Amino acid sequence: MKSFWCGAVIPNCEATFEAATEDEILDRVAAHAADDHGLDELSPTTVARVREVIVDQ
Ligand SMILES: [Zn+2]
Repeated sequence: MKSFWCGAVIPNCEATFEAATEDEILDRVAAHAADDHGLDELSPTTVARVREVIVDQ
């Protein structure tokens, strides 16, 4: 299981995500970023940062 805490990338966000794979987490983070942070698309830099802070549970 992989998990990701949004606050590691976007300060003051408490959202956390768990999924079987990094790609699944990225899908959910992209939807969350659009809904809650007004980011229509994650930049390659942001995606790289997200992948860096995803941890194995
Ligand atoms: Zn967030």
